[in-house]
Amino acid sequence: MSLRQFSILVADDTPDIVSSVVEQLTRLSKKFKHSVRVYTASSATDVFSVLNSKEVDCLLLDYHFEGGMSGDEIMDAIVDPFGQKLIFLMSARPPSELEHMVVRRHKRLGDRFRFLRKPFEPLELQEVYLQIVDFLCSRSYPCPLAYTYQVMKGATTAQARLTGLKDLVESIIIYSVAVLTADCKRLGTLSALKPKLSGTAPMTLGAWLKWLAAAIGCIANQSRKPFMPELLRVFSETDGVDALRLLYEFKDQVRDNELGHGFVREEDWYSRTLDSYSKPIEVLFDCLLFTTRYPLVAVETIDLPQLQTIFRYTVRSLMGSSAPFPVHVVDTPERLTKDAVFAFAPSGIFLSLHPVLRFCMCDKCSIRRLFSLERVSESTFKYRAHCNHQLGYQKDGREDEWFKDLPAALFSAL
Ligand SMILES: [Zn+2]
Repeated sequence: MSLRQFSILVADDTPDIVSSVVEQLTRLSKKFKHSVRVYTASSATDVFSVLNSKEVDCLLLDYHFEGGMSGDEIMDAIVDPFGQKLIFLMSARPPSELEHMVVRRHKRLGDRFRFLRKPFEPLELQEVYLQIVDFLCSRSYPCPLAYTYQVMKGATTAQARLTGLKDLVESIIIYSVAVLTADCKRLGTLSALKPKLSGTAPMTLGAWLKWLAAAIGCIANQSRKPFMPELLRVFSETDGVDALRLLYEFKDQVRDNELGHGFVREEDWYSRTLDSYSKPIEVLFDCLLFTTRYPLVAVETIDLPQLQTIFRYTVRSLMGSSAPFPVHVVDTPERLTKDAVFAFAPSGIFLSLHPVLRFCMCDKCSIRRLFSLERVSESTFKYRAHCNHQLGYQKDGREDEWFKDLPAALFSAL
């Protein structure tokens, strides 16, 4: 588990500029203790090949490329439906000549598009670097993580804070399980999952952890690129803090021994326990900054294909701690269904996080909420939302293969 991770693409057809910018960015990342991946490109073709294969958060893009598309035209062709990327257009031309025209053309990008005049001094690049960090750290986390983090931070007593920490841990685990299990299905390795859970009780923190560990193993033991490689890295890196061990330890010490049994302890005990876990869990939360690259979305409306194979969807982006969640329009050849929650990867893939997460109307609250799986059987999946209301999803007549696949994967040893 390492520090805040992000990635920057430096694109310029002058090799000296690329190497000098890469060197300075690397130095800055060390200075500020960030884990930064820097990719390079020397043509428009290179830019798109990096964007299609890597998770890029920020581009430093030259305006002028010898032959081919200009930086300005490249910007038009970048696919970023949820506005996740920050783009700096670099140019040596005077502002009067270029800047106003380009700024006007890319007005829709708003604050996500900035100018960087060449040549620039190291201090100017440091300023740009800090702007990048600022932008990336202000992107919203997926709703379950953002919500529980905010509740935990807002708690005023040590006891409430510790309960908040437990809910944050649970939401991190469930989010990770949702992504990794869906990825097992996508990669065809679901039958190897086998966390050997007991099928009779609601999911406990211990059961979620077993499921998480099994799903990590499943994805790590196959050779194709995972949907969310960063997630696997957070849980598989053994230097520094061992994320999985931290979560197990937290479960054993805090959840099982204390909070789980409803004892009321001295405030001092909560403070001491909080002291030992809040720091490492906040470090883990920081390491999950990459999840801001993968908007969670729920489909609102589906338009018939415009061009044979491309569907137009309006989707709600379930990022940040509270509603109203913003609506976006997305064109994609993928078939997305209503009520399911999807994670969208920067490379353009949607991954359905059904059946672990659902975005449905809560009958009691009369608003749509994000529900997490709570109990699994062969005929019913039960869910709960932050409002603490439940939701049932029954098999009756539904053509949903998860009713067979999920119990088979989870309870296989029984
Ligand atoms: Zn409710």
